[in-house]
Amino acid sequence: MQNCLIILQHNGEAIEESSQRLCANLWRSVVQAGSKVDSVVFGDCPADVLKPLGRYDIKTVHQITGTPDDFYSPEVRVSKLIELISSGGYTSVIMPGTLQGREMAPVLAARLDAGLVSDCVGFSRRAGRTEAVINIYGGQYQMVCELSGYYNVLLMADINYGVLELPETGEVSINTVPVAKRTGEPALRLLETFRLPATELEIGEADIVVGIGRGIETGEDYRMMQELGGAIGAPIGGTRPAVDAGWIPFEKQIGQTGRIIAPELYVAAGISGAVQHITGVEKAKIVAINNDPQAPILRLADLGVIGDFRIIVPLLVRKLQALGKEGRQ
Ligand SMILES: Cc1cc2nc3c(=O)[nH]c(=O)nc-3n(C[C@H](O)[C@H](O)[C@H](O)COP(=O)(O)OP(=O)(O)OC[C@H]3O[C@@H](n4cnc5c(N)ncnc54)[C@H](O)[C@@H]3O)c2cc1C
Repeated sequence: MQNCLIILQHNGEAIEESSQRLCANLWRSVVQAGSKVDSVVFGDCPADVLKPLGRYDIKTVHQITGTPDDFYSPEVRVSKLIELISSGGYTSVIMPGTLQGREMAPVLAARLDAGLVSDCVGFSRRAGRTEAVINIYGGQYQMVCELSGYYNVLLMADINYGVLELPETGEVSINTVPVAKRTGEPALRLLETFRLPATELEIGEADIVVGIGRGIETGEDYRMMQELGGAIGAPIGGTRPAVDAGWIPFEKQIGQTGRIIAPELYVAAGISGAVQHITGVEKAKIVAINNDPQAPILRLADLGVIGDFRIIVPLLVRKLQALGKEGRQ
């Protein structure tokens, strides 16, 4: 892993938090082990947002300029990446395990004939070689893979290892590369971009997440949880049964076979606290509402409320709304 290219996501005003966590985790592992790391961002992003990446010892940021429409298809991003990989001599390509990363990684690995590692949590060294570490069985075991391909594509789990003390400065050079404008009919066309309500925002970026489980049984229950999310500005994620029941999409499943997220606060309603679920929110403070005093989540929670969420959540929403009004007065 001498020459790594990491793919970072931004919103035009800031590098996304999952990408910043990725930089911090790579700084601890591969940068400290002597690897050279450059990065690539897709879409226009001001230099003052990119320059601070130097503090993670990133040497060059390749900025592929263009509008979101230009990058809608993963094919466009992958073709541009392949050009950069061959001109820059990169052998490892590392990306955050976001939806965009999950969409790009297999296409890139197939085009490069590369090994693909998913849900990588870090790296170790053995006999001068770098190995990828993968968490399995909800983090109770780890699997170590040797990176023996000429090219390796690594999709990282989103892990927040806490605060990293880094120097404020570090030189980074920005290499601006225009995206090739499409000719002919695009395979996919971007029709619209709109801001989602708070309850539907990306759970990996949120400070507070509302979690729902099998206890949510009716549309009325779900609307109640949406109101709670709206009142505290939190998106809704949840357990596998909540996904199976169709209340939330798979991207919002938290846990061993879903996402590992790092909000500051997780408000869980109608969730028992199975290890396969809790492993996805281990770093968060947990407030749990459950009507079974024996539910494991009540032992794990920082604040446990024993009761029916159908009674507690509306009271909570009213209280939060009243507090919000007081705050505005
Ligand atoms: C290999 C493997 C991987 C898995 N991966 C995942 C994963 O990634 N994510 C995941 O979530 N699960 C995963 N699971 C499933 C996991 O083991 C649990 O079955 C699941 O998390 C339970 O979800 P739940 O808490 O919603 O449901 P339950 O365990 O059925 O709990 C429902 C809870 O709701 C409470 N409740 C019901 N009604 C109310 C009410 N009105 N008010 C308050 N409380 C109420 C009940 O008391 C109960 O505690 C995996 C399992 C396996 C074997």
